[in-house]
Parts: sequence; C-alpha cells; structure tokens
Amino acid sequence: MHSKHSPAPAALQAAAGRTPELHLTRERWHCLLRELARRGAGTRESGAFLLAHMSRPQDVVEVAYYDDLDPACLTGGITFAGTGYSQLWALCRARGLTVVADIHTHPGVGVRQSRIDATNPMISQPGHVAIIVPDLGRSPEPDLVGVHVYAGGHHWTSYLGNCNRSVLKIDGPGRSSVRRAAQSLRRAITAVRDRLPVHGAHRSSR
Ligand SMILES: [Zn+2]
Repeated sequence: MHSKHSPAPAALQAAAGRTPELHLTRERWHCLLRELARRGAGTRESGAFLLAHMSRPQDVVEVAYYDDLDPACLTGGITFAGTGYSQLWALCRARGLTVVADIHTHPGVGVRQSRIDATNPMISQPGHVAIIVPDLGRSPEPDLVGVHVYAGGHHWTSYLGNCNRSVLKIDGPGRSSVRRAAQSLRRAITAVRDRLPVHGAHRSSR
C-alpha cells in the first residue's frame, strides 16, 4: 500500500513503449530479499527503490530502502512521505543515479497489485517497474514475484510466474557455483605454486 507519490526525476530515461529490462546479480537479489524480510520482521510490508546509472538503466547498482529514506514509512503497509522522496532525489543527485524500479513485499502469495499499488505508482513514469515479492520477502525464488511495468495513466502490464523473466534478469551463478569456482581457483593456484622454485631451489618432492 502506498499513500503518497511524487513526480519522477527529470533525468529518468524511461523505456516507454518497449519492455524494460532489469538486471541484478544473483548475489544482489538474495541480499535485497534478505534485507526486505529483515526490515519487515515477518509482520509488515517493506520496500526499496532500485537505482541505476542513467547511461545503463537496465543494470541495478544500488538499493535505497524505504525505511532508510523515511523511517516512519513501514506502517504494516507502506506510507511513504514526501520527505522520503527529497532524501531519494538527494541520494540520486549525489551518486549520479536514477530510479528504475521499486520493490515491496506482500504477506501471503499474492503478487498482483493492490488497487492502491496500481493507482499510486511510487514513480509515475512510463517504463518504471514495480516488483511485488510474496511472503514478506522470505521466499527469494525470482519466479514467485510479480513484475508490473507502468504504462502511464494508471495502466500497467503485469508479468507473473516465469513470464517475469522477460523483464527481471537475475544474472550470474548461484552461491554454490561461486563457492565451487573459488575452490577450483584455489586448487589451480596451489598447483602452480607447487611448481614454482622455493627459495631459489626447485622442490624435489615431485
Ligand atoms: Zn502492494
């Protein structure tokens, strides 16, 4: 639920008329969901803005959590104040970033927009993406989230289930593959080191 919104940043280059893409690394996605769940504490909705450089609006590089911008906004639903937007625009200016999407949690499995979600876009800019996460952020599976692209005039295009992959691209290997890659790199380094001269002499153990 959102009770307030404000105009989009002038610099936002919305992808009006075509389907936008959002790229997040798998690590950033899991970190984002963990943080949303933590802030919601299993009892209330939480949310964040996803930020990107203006030259590469598809690559999410930073996350601004609603309750960092407006500490009083997590009211069970979300009541984001104008002062929170002032903080957001200041942050964007300072870092040279723009808002490309927002994400918020719902209790239960429903990831369609509420009437309030649909009629009060957090950013009223065509091409803006609103992501809804089920189970107050405790289910990080990307295919469970709802992805809604703003078309202007309170019209949205929704992508549900694995259809959301046409917008939401979670890139990169899972954490277990990262761990496997790190282990194999360590083995390779050890193997190379074992073949190097030690203190001017060659190891004789081989
Ligand atoms: Zn909602």
